[in-house]
Amino acid sequence: MHDHHRPGGGFRNPWPAAAPAGFREFLKWVLWERLTQRRPKDPGPPPFPRVEPSFATPRAAPDAVTVTWVGHATFLLQIGGLNVLTDPMWSERASPVQFAGPRRRTPPGFAFDTLPPIDLVLLSHNHYDHLDDITVRRLAERFPDARWLAPLGVGRGLTDRGARHVRELDWWDAECVADLTVTSTPAQHFSGRGFGDRDRSLWCGWALRAGGRSVWFAGDTGYHPEFGAIGARCGPFELALLPVGAYEPRWFMRPVHMNPEDAVQAYRDLRSGWRAGAGEYTAVVPMHWGTFKLTDEPMAEPPSRSSAAWHAAGLPPEALWLLAPGETRVLRAAPPD
Ligand code: ZN
Ligand code: ZN
Repeated sequence: MHDHHRPGGGFRNPWPAAAPAGFREFLKWVLWERLTQRRPKDPGPPPFPRVEPSFATPRAAPDAVTVTWVGHATFLLQIGGLNVLTDPMWSERASPVQFAGPRRRTPPGFAFDTLPPIDLVLLSHNHYDHLDDITVRRLAERFPDARWLAPLGVGRGLTDRGARHVRELDWWDAECVADLTVTSTPAQHFSGRGFGDRDRSLWCGWALRAGGRSVWFAGDTGYHPEFGAIGARCGPFELALLPVGAYEPRWFMRPVHMNPEDAVQAYRDLRSGWRAGAGEYTAVVPMHWGTFKLTDEPMAEPPSRSSAAWHAAGLPPEALWLLAPGETRVLRAAPPD
């Protein structure tokens, strides 16, 4: 039995002080704080203009790596000659119904219909802003041969929506898809889509490696003590996709969502897990902001605060990639030492 497996079924965060707030604290936030304290208003529609993507179609070369941000935790990654999607979300609302629940404030970076052929879909957990019913069904129908990897307990929800080649992985399990090795990495979070399923399924990040190329998608996570272990076991990484949004109020969100300062610390821990070569850095794309208003911080705060935290930590400015929705970056292979 692993520490993150709850005796009697379900899952938990194995680290001290990592227990997410419960239902009582949730009520305190939405019924007390939100009604009694003024929140800063978001000025108009958030100014996150989208740019034309420039991913390779239909596929990139086997030794090339590109990243394109669709929005929130949705990325198109091209690595090992494959097209990989993370937490695919093209719908209007992150909700069980499309007439209520958090509405999309920023359109997807590119239209679903312009997707290149998808080989692999990675799910981090089953929250509505990451596992979207309609998008899963559309993907399963359009790309019936795609492989799907999900944490323990999430697979059934994918096969029920039409996905055909689904595998569930526990933390640190790995799976090979053609020349790509994908490893499930620990995260500090929780799960559930309704009443009675809290923490019945697992949450995770994903490390991708093909040839000498490598990317890490952190999933949805608070700050925890194992970023160094992830770097040591699965790194070094050329690129890390790190969540930096949905962090206020801090007393409620800290266990489950990093803020930009946490993300800077996670980045340092991650890189402490390997010896960096000369001139080598790991690029970071901050994610989980700008698409849905899930929490109390202003929509435009995560990117500006990420820049400030990055600068204050003395990290190389060229390593922080604040992408616009739709924007593609091509990763240059690290120069040999
Ligand atoms: Zn979540
Ligand atoms: Zn989320």
